[in-house]
Amino acid sequence: MISGKTRVLALIGQPVGHSLSPAMHNTAFAADGLDFVYVCLDVDPDALPDAVKGAVALKLRGFNVTMPHKRAMIPLVDELDEGARISGAVNTVVIEDSILRGYNTDGGGMVMACEEAGIELSGQRVLILGAGGAAAAIAVAFGGVGVGELHIANRNLEHAMELRDKLRRAGIRKVEVYTLDALEEAITKAEVVVNATPLGMQQGDALPIPAEYVGGGRAICDAVYLPGTETPLVRLARERGARVAAGDRMLLYQGVLAQRLWTGREANVKAMDDAIS
Ligand code: NAP
Repeated sequence: MISGKTRVLALIGQPVGHSLSPAMHNTAFAADGLDFVYVCLDVDPDALPDAVKGAVALKLRGFNVTMPHKRAMIPLVDELDEGARISGAVNTVVIEDSILRGYNTDGGGMVMACEEAGIELSGQRVLILGAGGAAAAIAVAFGGVGVGELHIANRNLEHAMELRDKLRRAGIRKVEVYTLDALEEAITKAEVVVNATPLGMQQGDALPIPAEYVGGGRAICDAVYLPGTETPLVRLARERGARVAAGDRMLLYQGVLAQRLWTGREANVKAMDDAIS
């Protein structure tokens, strides 16, 4: 029940109508009797600074940020965590005494999805496909749990090199980069392969790695999330018995981490999971 004391949380993006986040968060708040409510706010790109000022003025507890605003949030917050700083993308904001703290919980969400799937990361050789916001957030979080080596393969080698340099400056030193032409060399070294490109979102997309390399003891993580179904990569990996951390689990756990930041307590993961499954 919404009361006079209910704290308001939001998703700021465009479009937002399809989002599962309100169901995910509100179900958990109701299950645990927490006096929070989570709503979706459709914000035009040029109105983002005003929307953020409005969120502060209205004393929202915080908000999530989704496409197309994740990068544009960077200069609008007062503080950034390492994942947000290196990825150049904010997906969660906490507002405390008018101070805006920007976080990126996507990488931590993938780490938790890996833990759930029994995918070992510590000391492992990991290949990340892509060098955008999700790839960077995952790379930072994987570095935080002691991954052995990071291999980053990207269409545009310069983007991969920029990410490698940022990771090295943050103390994650064992990072190599590859073009997609050299993908096979990178895959054969990898114990864990992470798709952080959008490949798999559209029908007819190619697999992000050649089919012969899916499985064979290699764990697969896919950031791409298709509501109610599996990506072709996840489907093939499961058919071949590989351990899989899929995009829907990453989505769940990035939300779990965001909720922890807003409420200061453990989230009701089962309620959140039931709401989106
Ligand atoms: P982004 O910042 O735009 O980065 C996209 C990356 O993919 C870039 O490195 C880009 O390469 C590469 N790429 C784009 N199209 C490609 C293609 N056709 N073939 C090969 N590489 C391609 O996007 P992002 O925010 O990182 O998101 C990536 C994916 O992760 C999206 O599908 C997004 O929905 C998903 N995601 C999921 C979650 C979740 O909770 N499950 C959270 C965040 C993101 P260039 O550098 O060459 O342009």
